[in-house]
Amino acid sequence: MSCNVNERTYIMVKADGVQRGLIGNIIGRFEKRGFKLIALKLVHATPAHIEKHYEVWSGTPFFPGLIKFMTSGPVVAMVWQGLGAVETGRAMLGETNPLASAPGTIRGDFALDIDRTICHGSDSVENAEKEIKLWFPEGVVQYDATFASWIFE
Ligand code: ATP
Ligand code: MG
Repeated sequence: MSCNVNERTYIMVKADGVQRGLIGNIIGRFEKRGFKLIALKLVHATPAHIEKHYEVWSGTPFFPGLIKFMTSGPVVAMVWQGLGAVETGRAMLGETNPLASAPGTIRGDFALDIDRTICHGSDSVENAEKEIKLWFPEGVVQYDATFASWIFE
């Protein structure tokens, strides 16, 4: 189990989450949990960019639909930092299949269909760093969060 207080994860409100007005709710969950926002932008991504993000799924039957869905409107790209950001970020999302996602998770609260899963979160520290480079080639924003001593010993 990772104990890096500076661990970073790439979180993205998908096209359905944006259209359904869930951006604020999702940001609020990460804020309230104690993570620090270090990058944020609204992006209408190109197919090539989304294909790169989901390249491990290239060749699967759901890949063309996934690209079409994720380029159908803007997404919100974010980087959140904090203790166990990757694993906890995934736990906050719920399971890939929303029907298997526990109530209280993002997918368990807002989604039903595996093709409309509201929010993305990196699945490993290595993939998080890759995704952060892909979505934020300009880099992230460094600052001291004054709340940190109330979240961490
Ligand atoms: P994401 O990477 O989008 O955060 P995830 O990590 O929970 O989701 P992945 O296994 O990486 O899930 O799959 C990426 C996306 O591809 C899923 O969000 C879903 O929309 C789609 N997907 C994955 N598996 C399937 C499947 N078996 N059938 C249909 N769509 C799928
Ligand atoms: Mg994934």
